[in-house]
Amino acid sequence: MAERHIQENIQKRLGQIAPAIVAWRRDFHRHPEVGWTEFRTASLVADVLEEVGFQVLVGQEVMNLTSRMGVPSEVVIAKAREKALKNGANLKWLDRMVDGCTGVVGVWDTGKPGPTIALRFDMDALPVHEEATNQHVPARLGFRSEIEGQMHACGHDGHTAIGLGVASILSSLKETGCGRIKLIFQPAEEGARGAKAMVEAGVVSDVDLFVCGHIGLTAKPTGLIATGVTRFFASTKIDVTIKGVPAHAALAPEKGKNALLAAAAITLQLQGISRHSGGDTRINVGMLEAGEGRNIIPSHAKLTLETRGVTNEVNDYMTEEVKRIVKAVAMMYNVEEHIEIVGRSIAAPCDELLMNRVKEVAISTGREWQVVDTLPFDASEDATYFMEAVQKRGGLATYTLFGTELSATHHHHAFDYSEETLLIAVELLSQLVADVLFSEVKV
Ligand SMILES: [Zn+2]
Repeated sequence: MAERHIQENIQKRLGQIAPAIVAWRRDFHRHPEVGWTEFRTASLVADVLEEVGFQVLVGQEVMNLTSRMGVPSEVVIAKAREKALKNGANLKWLDRMVDGCTGVVGVWDTGKPGPTIALRFDMDALPVHEEATNQHVPARLGFRSEIEGQMHACGHDGHTAIGLGVASILSSLKETGCGRIKLIFQPAEEGARGAKAMVEAGVVSDVDLFVCGHIGLTAKPTGLIATGVTRFFASTKIDVTIKGVPAHAALAPEKGKNALLAAAAITLQLQGISRHSGGDTRINVGMLEAGEGRNIIPSHAKLTLETRGVTNEVNDYMTEEVKRIVKAVAMMYNVEEHIEIVGRSIAAPCDELLMNRVKEVAISTGREWQVVDTLPFDASEDATYFMEAVQKRGGLATYTLFGTELSATHHHHAFDYSEETLLIAVELLSQLVADVLFSEVKV
């Protein structure tokens, strides 16, 4: 355990920077940026990391350009960059985030041999139009999204603020301990698109201990901490486009090839994929667009959908079934189909040894938190790619949950959470890193 005076220093420092943590969260909330367009957020993160003395790596220093998934068009990326610049992003960083490579990593090296611990925070928002009534706290307190149609509806604004809080606290400790800290700020978690590109750039190839986390989800109320999770769903995000042939709907309907009907049939048939004895599965067609107009046989359609499975094998089965059904239905309607994988996440176990260490640290703080070993995650996360990479090299990884009351479910337009949860997360993660850096016990 880190010595008592170090623990007390962390608590004292947390008290001093608590208003800054809340202010960061609200600032990010006002300026949400969806995956691969987090220019302003990433730039602000880089500014703070540099200010508190971390070595800052950005863009292709921490991302493999070609392993990214679900990247928007160049036009979308260029517009987002422009907007970020107008809203105060630092050009120095933007120039290094070429092609929407908005990842940032802060490194703190004590210069003394010891373990490397990495924490990951995601930064992206969702394409959700935020609630504007006064019942919604961000609207009432004046930090509602200023970007139409985009919102931090999952809490990643809070995650980014937690990361900056941890950086500020650790850099203010007088003693430095042994080993290295890496704070990973990941773009495009939504849609499971960003983590793999950072793993393939080698961001965790020297990491011994990896901890990630999320506020809310299955954790309630504020003060509840789960040291690990079970039931990560592996997931595949798929875009399907259908190309048919347009025709006059009255004069010559037989000359058309109906893409809308094919897309509708695909949507219904996918719901009929058989359940799997290997475990739970999910399927969702979340968007379907088709057709040109009332009196035209529809010549194009697009579906965005996802599969999930409680193991990688079960999710692979779902993905293969989707491909087979899309092809079969396209053949039936005599249209062309194109299937594109635009995101992917895997399942990964949490390591009990590291979970126990998180628990010991949480208890040693003397705070009145309720600590449980695991909660079911029941959703997907591409942080599992980091976890897998660390575990493959013999390191340990876990995924913590920080409880909070929620005003609405995640991804809902009235989503909000308790800001006290952010302070709890900052303290626990800072104490954990201190425990690793200052502990005599080597991993
Ligand atoms: Zn999330």
